[in-house]
Amino acid sequence: MSDIIQLLPDHVASQIAAGEVIQRPASALKEMLENSVDAGATHIQVVLREAGKTLIQVVDNGCGMSENDARMCFERHATSKIRTAEELSRIHTLGFRGEALASIAAVARVELRTRKSESESGTLIIIEGSEVKKQEAVACNPGTSLSVRQLFYNVPARRSFLKSNAVETRHLIDEFEKQALAHPEIAFRLQHDGNEIYHLTAGNLKQRLLQLYGHAFSERIVPVEEETSIVRIRGFIIKPEFCKKSRGEQFFFVNRRFIRDSYLHHAVTGAYADLLPRDAYASYFIHLIIDPGWVDVNIHPTKTEVKFQDERLVYSILKSAVRRALGLFSLTPSLDFTQDVTMQLPAEKFKEIPRPPTIKINPSFNPFESENRQKTPVKEWIKFFEDTSCATQEVTRTLTEELKPQEPSLPTVVAPCVLGRYILLASSTALHLVDIHAAAVRIVYDRLMQEINKEQGSQQILFPVTVEFNQADAELVNTLCQQLKKFGFDISPFGKNTWVVNGVPSDFPVQEVQPLLELLLDDRRKNVPEITMDQSYLARRLARIQARQTAKPKDLSEAGELIKLLLQTSNPNYTPGGKKIILSFTDEEITRRFKTAQHTLPG
Ligand code: ADP
Ligand code: MG
Repeated sequence: MSDIIQLLPDHVASQIAAGEVIQRPASALKEMLENSVDAGATHIQVVLREAGKTLIQVVDNGCGMSENDARMCFERHATSKIRTAEELSRIHTLGFRGEALASIAAVARVELRTRKSESESGTLIIIEGSEVKKQEAVACNPGTSLSVRQLFYNVPARRSFLKSNAVETRHLIDEFEKQALAHPEIAFRLQHDGNEIYHLTAGNLKQRLLQLYGHAFSERIVPVEEETSIVRIRGFIIKPEFCKKSRGEQFFFVNRRFIRDSYLHHAVTGAYADLLPRDAYASYFIHLIIDPGWVDVNIHPTKTEVKFQDERLVYSILKSAVRRALGLFSLTPSLDFTQDVTMQLPAEKFKEIPRPPTIKINPSFNPFESENRQKTPVKEWIKFFEDTSCATQEVTRTLTEELKPQEPSLPTVVAPCVLGRYILLASSTALHLVDIHAAAVRIVYDRLMQEINKEQGSQQILFPVTVEFNQADAELVNTLCQQLKKFGFDISPFGKNTWVVNGVPSDFPVQEVQPLLELLLDDRRKNVPEITMDQSYLARRLARIQARQTAKPKDLSEAGELIKLLLQTSNPNYTPGGKKIILSFTDEEITRRFKTAQHTLPG
């Protein structure tokens, strides 16, 4: 009888191997997100189309890849993360098997754009069903963008096994949430079919929980903390009275990797004991930090299970930590429910800054009064002119000289409003034009950034107004409303394509809410790949609209007041959007221009 065994062609072998790692869009997303985390990214953006069946794109600002690595990464068993079998016992990265990208490339149309920050250009590679179709140098941002299109296009059997879009989307979002909870110090965004689903700023675990589950969550959780030589435990559990009949959220992370572990689950639920109502489930978000030598992460195809060297010990440490958090045989007599578990993550930046004066006009202010002049600190005038342009540096120097006490000659307001938009200032050596609107934008912006997160200053409207948007933008509008809350807006959905505005920040005209949201929606549509639409971006937009309310100064004193406020801002020279606020013309420059402009008359 003739021999019948044959080696499978490479592409068939690859497809079979891929089946182990990539079962559905969510598994591809998991691998892609893990690679971005391993690459040290601080911003990760995910773009999905049709439940990931058409497109899964992950854009990161991580370390990027060299031209060779960009080609190599699609080879099976190609990894930069371990070199020897011994290293398997001290893994610090999420990936290490070097099979994810090879698997994805075997069953999809893949486009990779990547650049190391030190390289001048990046690399573009297009691979379809493991076959390289294109490789060339391209201009791109540092980091990596990987687009996976038409997953399983060449494996129809697998494609037909995919569930409805709703189900696959749920899997994708679950995967995204796991990574977001595992890495609260990373900013994440998620877009699906053009709608922004999540826009998460970097913070600590508690802040991330509130971003994902809403601010009310803050009342429902208590911190769990334990420090032993074997394991460090950090996280939150739900208070017994908020346990639900449905499964809720149950997350363990071991060294920042999401895992399932029924034994540890038992430790947590066991700790609740009688406090847990019948058929109710406890939610928990618990990070275990453990020496990599104490835990084997290489026991499961998708690495969602681990094996501890001493499971029983971890079990009892965890159980006692949870009991203590619940106030059972507590070492500390009273629980501090407000305590924040920070995982060595950045503190809120703007907490400490004192509130600056708001725009108030002092009618008796006279900038020409010598007393007032001396009150304006010299330092601020110098800061006023701190600039990079040569002309202005010149001014700074002459100004500093002018400011010597023996002959004080600070710039003073000459005209409150020339050409309909500038304040004209003059000193003995220069003229300065201050753009009134730009100055107002800077002043309002600085104030907004300082007030952010205080969640105060919302002015409830007596007769709430409504705004309307296209139903297709609903998700996006809701996200925006959520983000605008921090600034004092209170806007909630009200019927199909209507939202009701119940509150606005003080000084913000309610009729500007619709234009503001339109402006923001427009930005979102235009700037799909932009990762940096954060609080400062929102503040910039708000400032632009709110600044329109600032009246033009009517007299010298009002103009002087505006200048004073401008000088107290973080950068009086430029708006947060980079527009110049002040133009200076030195005496020399003016003289020179007069000279070059003169006719030379014969004789
Ligand atoms: P593994 O993560 O197990 O090493 P993968 O197939 O997921 O294997 O990735 C292969 C290699 O490609 C990685 O080891 C890494 O060097 C590189 N790589 C993948 N994704 C990225 C990314 N987003 N940024 C930088 N390098 C990446
Ligand atoms: Mg990987």
